Amino acid sequence: MPAPRDRITAVAEYDAMIHRVARQRLDLQARDMWRMRQEIGRFLREARTGLGLQPYQLNREVAERVIAGLHAQAEGLARSLTGIVEQASHANAEHALALGHSYAQHFGAATVRLTADARVLAVALEHSARLISIRDGGLTSRIQRQVDSAIRRAVLSVQVGGGEGAMAEITRALTGVKRWSYEAERIYRTEVGRVYSMVTDQSGQQLDQIIPTGKRWRWSRISREEHAQIDGQTVGARGRFRVPLRRGGVVRMRFPRDPVAPAEATVNCGCGVVLVPLAHRRRRAA
Ligand SMILES: [Zn+2]
Repeated sequence: MPAPRDRITAVAEYDAMIHRVARQRLDLQARDMWRMRQEIGRFLREARTGLGLQPYQLNREVAERVIAGLHAQAEGLARSLTGIVEQASHANAEHALALGHSYAQHFGAATVRLTADARVLAVALEHSARLISIRDGGLTSRIQRQVDSAIRRAVLSVQVGGGEGAMAEITRALTGVKRWSYEAERIYRTEVGRVYSMVTDQSGQQLDQIIPTGKRWRWSRISREEHAQIDGQTVGARGRFRVPLRRGGVVRMRFPRDPVAPAEATVNCGCGVVLVPLAHRRRRAA
């Protein structure tokens, strides 16, 4: 354990590192949100271009061709969004490990090599991919299905002489960009953030073997206001936080966005968790 004065310096340096990583994560997130909005916007623009025709030209053959093209575009969209979330998840795992190494360096375990559990990471990535997927009712499949059904209804409408209304309906279906972007961002925030806190949690458990280590909950100050109540709550490396639910009651969680917690405690949670050295190893409360 370093001498008291060194320890003050160590805490200050480690805190600076925490802020640096938090800033990097926010920058990455802002860039990715922009990229996701661009991708969804492009998909809807392409869909609209595919329909660049007069209502009276809209017949069954044309619709089938447009819908087939749309499906291919939706698959492309799913690939792009999955790629963005996957890259961000890896980057966040790296950020969490960097913080773990900084912690180790500053609090007396300089030689430790932390690694993210590859199996856990693989499961997390598979889960995110399914949420975005073009199959299994994922986000992209819902976007595609909605546009697809608007086109089919439009064809039907043209057949009975309602061409103008039909085109208006397609246009409405293609202007849901904001809602779809919001959903994509929610998946990103929840899933990428989950990888970050899982890797931090794993690092904390490894480091606790060498230095008495705790973890501290950090409220995002943006979303999930009920989590403000536990800003600063600190538990042991293997402990669980007592997280309040908006409708009352408490759920025990190992880290923000813990997959075992109910969705109401994890969705859109932007909270963080940081490792802190514990002066004394406390007995686990019964
Ligand atoms: Zn939160």
